[in-house]
Amino acid sequence: MPDVEKVLIIGSGPAGWTAAIYAARANLNPLVFPGRALGKDLIPGGQLMLTTDVENYPGYPEAVSGPDMMQLFARQALRFGTRVVADGGVKAGDELDANYPLYASFQNAEKVDFSKRPFHVVGDGGYECDAHAVIVATGAKANWLGLESEQRLAQSGGGVSACAVCDGALPMFRDQPLGVVGGGDSAIEEATYLTKFASKVYMIVRRDVLRASKIMQQRAASNPKIEILWKKQIKDIHGEEKITGVTLFHSDTKEEEHLELGGLFMALGHKPITGFLEGQLELDQAGYIKLADPARSTTSVEGVFAAGDVADHVYRQAITAAGMGCKAAIDAERWLAAQGIE
Ligand code: NAP
Repeated sequence: MPDVEKVLIIGSGPAGWTAAIYAARANLNPLVFPGRALGKDLIPGGQLMLTTDVENYPGYPEAVSGPDMMQLFARQALRFGTRVVADGGVKAGDELDANYPLYASFQNAEKVDFSKRPFHVVGDGGYECDAHAVIVATGAKANWLGLESEQRLAQSGGGVSACAVCDGALPMFRDQPLGVVGGGDSAIEEATYLTKFASKVYMIVRRDVLRASKIMQQRAASNPKIEILWKKQIKDIHGEEKITGVTLFHSDTKEEEHLELGGLFMALGHKPITGFLEGQLELDQAGYIKLADPARSTTSVEGVFAAGDVADHVYRQAITAAGMGCKAAIDAERWLAAQGIE
């Protein structure tokens, strides 16, 4: 096993790579567990790998595709000496293909021991290391319905998305009837946001009540562009290149109907990727990492920091995750300096 790492970063979305850029430029020689591609939910690069055009990240006036953006983040981190854990062991930037490579062979951090210092982390490909500071940036995954048509159209930019704030302003959704699936606060927030662009927004709700707070329910009820379709669920999504509509069924009677739509947004909640922590960090009720100080990146364990969606169920944006990654690297650097580790 190598010497103790100064900073170990778990996760490779905007938070993880930004933490790596800052840590590398602070001469902390960061090592990243980027995560292994395990289907649509778990993928190095995170949620942006499932996004088409990113138009709201400053610095890209002509938009950038989510995967291209994550490749740029990775290249920037590697350029300053960040190393990654792959199946063949630790690799530096010059040992990696320039095109954000080795998706299948990056290791996940599978097990951590934060009970004593230095901390110990074990990868799913067998790589183990000790680290003085750890930044957890594993993100959260959006819940999906699980339909084949849903994933096909989501991944091809065909008008199915799990983030209205990210994608709703795209020209393809202008003046179209749009659907939002779910009855929580996010669904109402997303539906309200979409009314700025859409001709009409249908909220597709599987029960006859909303889970959302009363104030949000009032917001939906008072918006003339929002219509709630009660006790309706989606059987299938239609369209080859782009969504054209959905088949709905009634939750009780199972009676089917067709609804024409120019876009469909899932608001089924998110799951933070914290299972591998197995009680080593304090989490909130929904499983997100609890920040010891909400203005910083500190967690319940001194020397372990958190950044991005894994500790943020409110904003969930690439820019906020990147900002949190920056904070975590600076917090780690200062904490290491205070321990006499430079
Ligand atoms: P959520 O509260 O878990 O709501 C998820 C919604 O999706 C529920 O209505 C659920 O239906 C529905 N759903 C789940 N699986 C489904 C399926 N397979 N088919 C159809 N519908 C399905 O998630 P959220 O809305 O993202 O909110 C998460 C947390 O963030 C909450 O605590 C919320 O209050 C908070 N939040 C607050 C605000 C705000 O205050 N402005 C905004 C956003 C989020 P059922 O109700 O039938 O289970």
